[in-house]
Amino acid sequence: MTERLFYRNAYLWEAGAKVERTERKGKNVRVLLDRTIFYPEGGGQPSDRGIIAGEGFRITVERVEGKDEIWHEGRLEGRLPEQGEPVRLILDAEWRYENMRQHTGQHILSAVFKDLHDAGTTGFQIFAEYNKIEIDYPGELTWETVLEVERRANEIVWSDLPVEVEVYDELPDELRQRLRKGLSDKVKPPIRIVSIPGVDVIPCGGTHVRSTREVGLIKVVRFYRKSRKLWRIEFVAGNRAIRYLNDILSDYWESLDEMPNKNRPLVERVRELREEMGELEDEKNALRRELWDWKARALLDDAEEINGIRVISYVEDAPMKDAQAFVVHLVDRNPGTIVLVAGENYVVFARNREVKGPSMKDLLEKVLSEVGGGGGGSEILARGGGFKAPPEEVLKVARRALGDYLG
Ligand SMILES: [Zn+2]
Repeated sequence: MTERLFYRNAYLWEAGAKVERTERKGKNVRVLLDRTIFYPEGGGQPSDRGIIAGEGFRITVERVEGKDEIWHEGRLEGRLPEQGEPVRLILDAEWRYENMRQHTGQHILSAVFKDLHDAGTTGFQIFAEYNKIEIDYPGELTWETVLEVERRANEIVWSDLPVEVEVYDELPDELRQRLRKGLSDKVKPPIRIVSIPGVDVIPCGGTHVRSTREVGLIKVVRFYRKSRKLWRIEFVAGNRAIRYLNDILSDYWESLDEMPNKNRPLVERVRELREEMGELEDEKNALRRELWDWKARALLDDAEEINGIRVISYVEDAPMKDAQAFVVHLVDRNPGTIVLVAGENYVVFARNREVKGPSMKDLLEKVLSEVGGGGGGSEILARGGGFKAPPEEVLKVARRALGDYLG
């Protein structure tokens, strides 16, 4: 059983300990100590980071886990420590202290949601950048409600209330009734009760700051519905709140700076750009239709007439998607036409609906049987590709095949 020094004093950033066991795990090493200041991952709080150092070795701790036996996993430099050897434990204090601030902030935020809206917390997780809680709120959550909760939570933060921890082998009934959340049967004594007088009483195995003031600031940054009843709230506290807001601010100012008009608010500028994009899109479509009309006219002038059907065939530089859009436009507007177009490794055959002529699908099959490749289509439109022959040659084959059908 590893002695958990972080429960005696959550602010112990350094301590001595003895090695009990070590294990190799891939490139890493795992160490069991007689006592530790490293918090093992659990209850939504991530595990601690830091250094375990001794004579001739040093372990950079990346992961800590376990309940009774707490194992420290990390990268080893130097020799493998031996059983019974003394070591020095040094926490990444900034990481841990910020986790304590986020964790205590969570107690306050959850307590206010419960107090003002009877909304219980069903989940909690600290990430490196932000934290999330899940609350059981059956209605439609709004920013108005969330900001009111946040305002009350910050009042509690700035009231400088003590955060007290007491350990019980058996919970007194009076205390049990005051718990924000019922105690699960799975929790075995000793039971740690974390309270903020007048605000919150909750069993918790994490690490917390001594006073609510140390949380600094609670800021909800985002919320959304997770399921029918559950809402996810993302929030930040302490220095991570400043860092998070700075990231958003720099994103905001850089985005505004990219705008042709740099006057706030940004949302107005974005709406202007979207409107402009819509106008440009309309203009582009009109120009394309005009271009298509000219192109269609030129192609129709060059069309070959076979038994009263106008046959247009040409080599196209544009990609297949654009070529197809144009030929469909062309045959739709010009009765009695068939269009054969070949581009870089593709062909598109299209026929006006009313033309009494061959199926484009059959024509394509005939052509592919000579030049290779694959494809398919319908009576009036067929596409193929995957042949090795150049477009001019494929087109020649297609014209001859169509001539056979019409001739
Ligand atoms: Zn806690």
